[in-house]
Amino acid sequence: DPVILWFRRDLRLADQPALAAACQDGPVIPVYILDDDAPKHHAMGGASRWWLHHSLDSLAADLKENGSRLILRRGKSAEVLAKLAEETGAARVHCIRHWEPWWGNAERAVAKELELCCHDGNYLARPGSITTGSGKPFRIYTPFWRALKQHMPPADPLPRPRSIPAPSKWPASDKLADWSLLPTKPDWATGFGEWQPGEAGAHKRLDAFARHAARYDEERNFPSIEGSSRLSPHLHFGELSAAQAWHKTADAGGSVQTFLSELGWRDYAQNVILQFPAYATENARENFDRLPWRTGKAAKADLTAWQQGRTGYPIVDAGMRQLWTTGWMHNRVRMITASFLIKHLLIDWREGERWFWDCLVDADYGSNAVNWQWTAGSGVDSNMFVRIMAPLTQSEKFDAAGYIRRWVPELAKLNDKAIHDPDEAGCRPEDYPPKMIGHREARERALEAAKKTK
Ligand code: FAD
Repeated sequence: DPVILWFRRDLRLADQPALAAACQDGPVIPVYILDDDAPKHHAMGGASRWWLHHSLDSLAADLKENGSRLILRRGKSAEVLAKLAEETGAARVHCIRHWEPWWGNAERAVAKELELCCHDGNYLARPGSITTGSGKPFRIYTPFWRALKQHMPPADPLPRPRSIPAPSKWPASDKLADWSLLPTKPDWATGFGEWQPGEAGAHKRLDAFARHAARYDEERNFPSIEGSSRLSPHLHFGELSAAQAWHKTADAGGSVQTFLSELGWRDYAQNVILQFPAYATENARENFDRLPWRTGKAAKADLTAWQQGRTGYPIVDAGMRQLWTTGWMHNRVRMITASFLIKHLLIDWREGERWFWDCLVDADYGSNAVNWQWTAGSGVDSNMFVRIMAPLTQSEKFDAAGYIRRWVPELAKLNDKAIHDPDEAGCRPEDYPPKMIGHREARERALEAAKKTK
């Protein structure tokens, strides 16, 4: 009998344990199901859909090259899989286990109807498996990483299967174009051309990064240079496994350990959402429910200005425009823009989480929520709310002039000193907005608001 291979965020052929197991188990029917019902309020955002379209296109071509196919279906995962099993006589479903709460629910629903074989393969270690001495899950990153490291390196990546056994008859498939995953907004996704979704593109990035991985720690905080790997969307969609990234870079020397510890953050985020499934929508610290976030018309207008990159803070505006144009933002600038929304504008972090969810090509339920709650101080780790980042100091310290010139062309003519704070330097061009709120005033307002959480 054929077996079904259920793809989700694991769109690769190499180091794909569900594929390897399926190949041993019978003719393989690979399927991707577009299931917008399962995640409800966290259905895939616009930028992720763009990525998904191209990644599926690439996966389908790779499967075809191996004598196989990618079947596309749309609907509730459990219902679609049950129907597909009935049509094809498939007895079993192989998949890589996923940790978003909705995937746990979907897996349970599938397992009621069919034999479901879940495999590990997207993280350095299975989420939930790294525990304290007394067997409890970790809440804080540093001890988590210390414990995870004891289990490293991860197992050697599996090679691509030599051949993928095909069924004698193929079931029908949707056409990718009919899913309308590509954007219709005319001014959007124009800058996405820098990406090559799919397994081949992922390995190209990884190979390129491996050549400067030794300088990671020195370069990663400077948005004007390409110091980090830009692997996040590839890792999110599973075009590359964390183990592959580890093995390709771990021997690079220099400061590559810092890079490996960032892969650890990715694992950590999954461990957090396993313990707190509602992490993207609820404060982990309940006292934050009392924080008087700004709401109403003025706050709404401020939120829009932040989204559009018109706050009058060049580093913030550069980041928000990079996000809109390319679907990605430099990590240092993500921290600055998130902190600005939460503390300078006193707008609920969940508004930011939603915007990033829609705009990031690497939008990831766990990583996004963990980083937003970390910035807000409402999360399971330390309360950072009162550590208020000064965006202009950050901009100078991390030498963002080149980055600002690239993303905020109105300011391109300003010199390296004036460009961080054109208001202060008295040379703000007419077409660039004044600062929405002064740093000191914003800081005082935020600290006052924070008292309500005491
Ligand atoms: P590198 O620096 O090369 O790091 C390698 C990999 O490690 C990344 O690809 C990523 O998979 C992982 N990683 C690095 N930093 C983190 C981190 N802080 N938390 C979790 N994983 C990390 N990352 C996402 O993948 N998806 C998100 O939705 C997301 N939302 C974020 C929201 C905010 C407010 C902030 C401050 C950070 C967010 N991050 C998110 C984390 C981080 O900014 C990105 O992973 C990183 O910028 C991606 O670029 P890179 O691949 O060059 O990273």
